[in-house]
Amino acid sequence: MSFSSAAKHEIIHNKIGGQCCLAAELCAFLHLNGSIILGSGLSLMLRTEDPATARRVFTLLKALFGIHTGIAMKDSTKFKKGHIFELGVSGEETVKEILHRTGLMKGDAELFPGIAGGVVKKRCCRRAFLRGAFLAAGSVANPEKNYHLEFVTHSSVFAEDICRLLAGFGLHSKTVIRKGSPIVYLKDGEGIVEFLKLIGANNAILELENVRILKQVRNNVNRAVNCETANLQKTLDASYRQAGNIKYLEANYGFDKLSPQLRRIAELRLEYPDATLSELSELAEENIGKSGVNHRLRKLDEIAERIREKKGES
Ligand SMILES: [Zn+2]
Repeated sequence: MSFSSAAKHEIIHNKIGGQCCLAAELCAFLHLNGSIILGSGLSLMLRTEDPATARRVFTLLKALFGIHTGIAMKDSTKFKKGHIFELGVSGEETVKEILHRTGLMKGDAELFPGIAGGVVKKRCCRRAFLRGAFLAAGSVANPEKNYHLEFVTHSSVFAEDICRLLAGFGLHSKTVIRKGSPIVYLKDGEGIVEFLKLIGANNAILELENVRILKQVRNNVNRAVNCETANLQKTLDASYRQAGNIKYLEANYGFDKLSPQLRRIAELRLEYPDATLSELSELAEENIGKSGVNHRLRKLDEIAERIREKKGES
């Protein structure tokens, strides 16, 4: 089962909450998966590819309106494998009641394209709405691959309303048009965790957090390795510079003019070009320590520099 389906199956088994929340969740389903059919009388049709989601809608309709709809299973279109589950409600009065209660219809005939404020007035209902929207048209990528959660909507008004709802919970979503449909999406791992928390997908959060920790550890290790490589490069650059200066002194100044202490370090550096300062200090056997070695090497650099200047070579 995909990460997305697992998250959906988890929240389907959560308790729905009060009657207010039932209406909010159903409202999301109707907006995203529903269609109103005007044939001989008014009827409603809800479609989903997921049987568990179909059960959920069935439960909502039963709890809110006492309606027992049938669930019909049909083959998917030729482009897609699998099945489509359809729930139909007919009877003008019943359909109108559902549409009014979920804020989809204003007055007697006017349909409302966005999310009606009354349906999502309370915080609990806003969460229920987002849960319904995720079940109806949401998906979340496997966090191992990337952080991405999205809703496929049918109208930009509705997409903007979802963005606003998410923003109310501090989640910064973006929209993009894909194949003519406005898509609302979240891209940051933290935002996705927050969203999953809102809709009660706790197992999905655990899984995602594990992946995030692993990714973080991997990044930290990479950073540490890069940092060490950079330091090593710096050390090597310095020692090659020192060895170069010392060779220059040997040829243009003479080691016999150096103090015995400087000469010792100069010879050691030539002999061990890759040695670190502390390794050189051990090799010197003079108990001078790292900074003593560094001091002498700098002194050698200075002398070489002075002679170059004198010769007009620098
Ligand atoms: Zn509520």
